[in-house]
Amino acid sequence: MRLTVNLHHLEKGPLHLQGELSVSELELADLDEMVRPAKPLRYDLELARQEHGLLVQGRLEMSVECECVRCLKSFELRLELADWSGLLPWEGEDKVLVSNDCVDLTPYVREDIVLALPQHPLCGPECSGLSARLPAGGRPSCGASQTPDGSCAWAELNKLKF
Ligand SMILES: [Zn+2]
Repeated sequence: MRLTVNLHHLEKGPLHLQGELSVSELELADLDEMVRPAKPLRYDLELARQEHGLLVQGRLEMSVECECVRCLKSFELRLELADWSGLLPWEGEDKVLVSNDCVDLTPYVREDIVLALPQHPLCGPECSGLSARLPAGGRPSCGASQTPDGSCAWAELNKLKF
């Protein structure tokens, strides 16, 4: 089920929506090899119809499985947007898409969750990693070039440069 709201239900006043959005619904499955959403996203939102747009306020919560960019250890990270809010305008360039009196909030949730995902996940601030000399930016260019024993071909090349 996508996160949709029927605008007619907002005519009498604000509406409270609670539920879950699956990883496939959010189209997050193939996002990033270092960050994999493992469980559905939970939302707890208050929606209100206003003169200029649809006001959305509330909380988004999701657990993601990350791979530490330094030591390659897997760990779970809880993302929480405790104070998520936005006004989706009725008019203008960014106007919200209304079809059959319904608004689909899924793309808005997706966008902000993607922004909240860590770019360089670390298992902990003190992680010293496999090697103290990772390339600048901290993220080894591994992925498809990983050798069967788990070491990273690119990391080996980088060692040569040093
Ligand atoms: Zn680590």
